[in-house]
Amino acid sequence: MTIALAQQLPGLAPVERIRAIRAALGGEIVFTTSFGLEDQVLTHLIAESGADIAFATLDTGRLFPETHALWAETEARYGIKVFAYAPRHEAVEDYVAGNGINGFYASLEARKACCHIRKVEPLGRALKGASGWITGLRADQSAARHDTPFAEENAQYGLVKLNPLLDFTRDDALAFAKAHDVPINPLHERGFLSIGCAPCTRAVEPGEPERAGRWWWEDETKKECGLHVGPDGRFVRPEPVKEAFA
Ligand code: SF4
Repeated sequence: MTIALAQQLPGLAPVERIRAIRAALGGEIVFTTSFGLEDQVLTHLIAESGADIAFATLDTGRLFPETHALWAETEARYGIKVFAYAPRHEAVEDYVAGNGINGFYASLEARKACCHIRKVEPLGRALKGASGWITGLRADQSAARHDTPFAEENAQYGLVKLNPLLDFTRDDALAFAKAHDVPINPLHERGFLSIGCAPCTRAVEPGEPERAGRWWWEDETKKECGLHVGPDGRFVRPEPVKEAFA
């Protein structure tokens, strides 16, 4: 049944994927949004579906003002509340004291430590007790995401991770947003295709990979922020989904 759902999702219309997930999985389902293009499409779909799914975001303290503005606009447009998980202030204070306000440029370790404090640890709180985690991952966003399934058991958080827009292309998401008047971040039009924290995101040139603007000073193969990787630092590989879907 669980594997059947994972196989069923790509055959459904996008809004029906959300309803199928909600029908198959008991307990709390959390959608973590960073207000990127795919996440905005998912927000629209979740609102349209009427499914009981909680909205959460990681307010790292280094987001673009445009992202905060879109957050407010999105809540007003859809009549939803996106719960913010902020980093522990003591951890941020210690990090800045030890590394400097922009210490993440100094080394991969310093960058990962910042991402851990500002994203990974708050994500753990956002997902605590949840049975499902919806993300806006698309398979074509990077080589590391190609083999991601629509649904997978995530042992790290003890839940089922669901990627209902996995087979969308960026153009699909853009077309959906345009057709449904979904609010999107104005930074996209200025070349910021994948938007994260302001100091770690730049615009990309035409023809550059979508995620080339994230942590651009690092090795291409090390560009995940830790939200979709396991404790060993590798991208979480798909596992068969077993018991979580009745
Ligand atoms: S993306 Fe940059 S600023 Fe944001 S948490 Fe990671 S290292 Fe820190």
